[in-house]
Amino acid sequence: MIEITLLGTGSPIPDPNRAGPATLVRARGQVFLVDCGRGVLQRATAVGVGAAGLSAVLLTHLHSDHIADLGDVLITGWVTNFAPDPAPLPVIGPPGTADVVAATLTAFGHDIGYRIAHHADLNTPPPMEVHEYTHGAVWHRDGVTIRVAPTDHRPVAPTIGFRIEADGASVVLAGDTVPCAGLDELAAGAGALVHTVIRKDIVAHLPQQRIRDICDYHSSVQEAAATAQRAGVGSLVMTHYVPALVPGQEEQWRALAATEFSGQVELGDDLHRVAVTARR
Ligand SMILES: [Zn+2]
Ligand SMILES: [Zn+2]
Repeated sequence: MIEITLLGTGSPIPDPNRAGPATLVRARGQVFLVDCGRGVLQRATAVGVGAAGLSAVLLTHLHSDHIADLGDVLITGWVTNFAPDPAPLPVIGPPGTADVVAATLTAFGHDIGYRIAHHADLNTPPPMEVHEYTHGAVWHRDGVTIRVAPTDHRPVAPTIGFRIEADGASVVLAGDTVPCAGLDELAAGAGALVHTVIRKDIVAHLPQQRIRDICDYHSSVQEAAATAQRAGVGSLVMTHYVPALVPGQEEQWRALAATEFSGQVELGDDLHRVAVTARR
């Protein structure tokens, strides 16, 4: 069984009820944080997960809304890890991830210095292990495998999606992307596809060109649903709602997805959970 928790279902626009983009995936005792939007650790705490308990951080791309709280994850994970010789935290993302991690640690360089000076048992900066990939196998540990494939969020490039498998169950995390062959291949036959969505039918009519621009490089609800249908996934888990999903309008979003996808559609608020089992 793989458990998905939508930690943050928001977007770049701050929302009092929705944290920024982040999804927790738990399988065989391993805990993967996919993207680090604003408020991610507050939401993770609500399901009993602390930064020091993460097996790895997976980044789909380096847009600010997806890495806003990376610094919090890295520093809090370091300060709250009381193991005598903590293992480095793996951070897996597209090319550019090493730059972002290094720059984040630089930004917190004063803080890191203060803490090393103050605590006798903190002797080194946060131990990190950064891996950059655009495709292929990236994780194979104790029955959990992860592979990545390129997505299409241009001009943001490169961007990647993740496929996590354990015990015959499989979950694909698309991140932000328009429909593309890389995602179709990655998602083929998966138990669940977690996909960011925007309502182009609403966003395309907003007055600000800068807001309308986001239609260029995201999937609409219907496009994400069509991807789910082509890939033959068991369920489509929608997140990163633009505009924010208003309580009471869930059925409207669900109906849009159902025009293209005949499987199970999941959506909801932060902390919505979906259990994914092996398909028969
Ligand atoms: Zn993005
Ligand atoms: Zn985004």
